[in-house]
Amino acid sequence: MDIIHLLPDSVANQIAAGEVIQRPASCLKELVENSLDAGATRVQVIVRDAGRTLLQVIDDGSGMSETDARLAFERHATSKIREAKDLFSLRTMGFRGEALASICAVAQVEMITRRQEDETGTLIEIHGSDVVRQEVCSCPTGTNIKVLNLFFNVPVRRKFLKTDQTELRNLLTEFYHIVLVNPKVNFTFVHNDEILLELPAGTEKQRIEAVFGNPKRNVYTSAFVDINTETEMVNIRGFVIKPENATKKAEQYFFVNGRYMRHPYFLKAVQTAYSGMLANDYQPSFFIYFDIAPEAIDVNIHPTKTEIKFADEQTVFQILMASVREALGKFSLAPTIDFDTSGSLDIPVSTSKTVSRPQVTVDPTYNPFHTRGTIYPDRAPKGWESLYESMTDPEPKETDVLHAEDVENCPIWQYNGRYILLPSENGLVIINQHRAHTAILYAQFMEQLSHTQGAIQQLLFPEVLVLPLDEMVLMNQLSGDLRAIGFDIEQLTPDSYSIQGIPAQLAQQSPLPVLQHILTQVRERGADTRQEWREQIARTLADSSAIPYGKTLTEAEMRDLVSRLLALPQHKHTADGKTILSLLSDEEINKRF
Ligand code: ADP
Ligand code: MG
Repeated sequence: MDIIHLLPDSVANQIAAGEVIQRPASCLKELVENSLDAGATRVQVIVRDAGRTLLQVIDDGSGMSETDARLAFERHATSKIREAKDLFSLRTMGFRGEALASICAVAQVEMITRRQEDETGTLIEIHGSDVVRQEVCSCPTGTNIKVLNLFFNVPVRRKFLKTDQTELRNLLTEFYHIVLVNPKVNFTFVHNDEILLELPAGTEKQRIEAVFGNPKRNVYTSAFVDINTETEMVNIRGFVIKPENATKKAEQYFFVNGRYMRHPYFLKAVQTAYSGMLANDYQPSFFIYFDIAPEAIDVNIHPTKTEIKFADEQTVFQILMASVREALGKFSLAPTIDFDTSGSLDIPVSTSKTVSRPQVTVDPTYNPFHTRGTIYPDRAPKGWESLYESMTDPEPKETDVLHAEDVENCPIWQYNGRYILLPSENGLVIINQHRAHTAILYAQFMEQLSHTQGAIQQLLFPEVLVLPLDEMVLMNQLSGDLRAIGFDIEQLTPDSYSIQGIPAQLAQQSPLPVLQHILTQVRERGADTRQEWREQIARTLADSSAIPYGKTLTEAEMRDLVSRLLALPQHKHTADGKTILSLLSDEEINKRF
């Protein structure tokens, strides 16, 4: 007796579904990718119970004809490829034609869809591969698909789902992979009636900001520098984090031709580019977008795998690494201050142990939150002084924390390439080295802006900065102050400046990116009085020329840095309010034992 027989479609589809639809997140991915393939400009995702009971995707894409609406749920039914060779020139996300067939095998699906040219739309309802309803309906152009009670007929699968928290996180991760590389499409994500994400169409950078930014914190993307490399083989664009902003938990995203990919080998290229710049177990965050001829990659490995194979991975590795290196170097994020050369102006190294005692002066009117007062004193809100008092009172007075004389002979250590530690009367003082240096440089730049002419380092080869109109207007406004701080610049044409010299403190940096950075900061942080833009200039320059994290300091350098810090009227916080110095009190230390 022959024993082999063909499985009915519904069973075959359920088996296939096991591969394609493992959890709500994979279902969401397939639906949203279909919307994008259909040319949608708006995609709404509506989820209930982390996708267990409802996953709905509404798009304004092409919609389907009545016949196609039915065919779409058949296995290997696709409009995206016709023959095998099409596989090598894919421009769509889908092509296997198995997603909808798999989904409808393991859920209750309701879809309404209409093409623009059709008067009426189609409603179709399928439960576990059985069509239970199909009728004409009236609906907007596009497709609205609901996946209800996922795995209702596959209890084992249902049992394997994790907690709602975890499944929701998986949904969002999958969603990020898609929205970050489709910034021109408007997306919303609603979970249990709460709008979790609302992402208007924009640039890649705006999209990253919209996903990861938090209005209460600093602008997220300002922690990154751009990378941009065009070669015959591949174009690489994107954003990589400035080493000083790296964290232990990083956002790491590669995209190729509009598709998210995992690529451990290319990750290595990025990590290598950062080597020596990050403290232990810190990871670089990045958003890197590759454009490459579709023939040069193979996306066909597995329906749920995000690995993508490149024809020439070694070459792309090299290009990627060089591209990241260049971006980091351009913004002089690599160590810029060489303590051993006497030529560098910043921190003169005193080899003798005695450091002259700095005069500690405390400016009682200093208010780090107050930026406009000098120009428009009447704008200052009434009663802010009391606000400020109440904010600072619980902390020990600054002068109590650390005395300049403490610094001269006490032990001093560097920790983790980031902090300087030293004992004081009241406990252990911890100083953030980069911020300390930033504050010192900031004071120095502000001083130059108001009183003196900054020292200029003439460039061997003058450079030309070409700017769009709006930035030229800004540049013209700032030019006087930029000259005061040591930029030797002159307007060349209506849309360009020539740069002959730069502030001596920046001698090791390339002038164009620094100027660009200042313009961006002034624009993005919104400085509209002279005082404010001066502060922005000083802040940007101080931040980009201060010693980076990870830089090893000698004992003399540390003492010098600390005494210069203490000489500042305000040494606990940077100009933008970040903590420079913190005290771990004896009490707190004793409590631990
Ligand atoms: P694939 O995307 O691999 O082609 P699917 O099973 O995901 O396979 O979809 C099958 C077909 O259904 C697609 O090729 C497309 O023609 C059609 N389709 C699916 N979703 C949509 C949608 N949101 N808008 C328009 N057409 C769609
Ligand atoms: Mg698809």
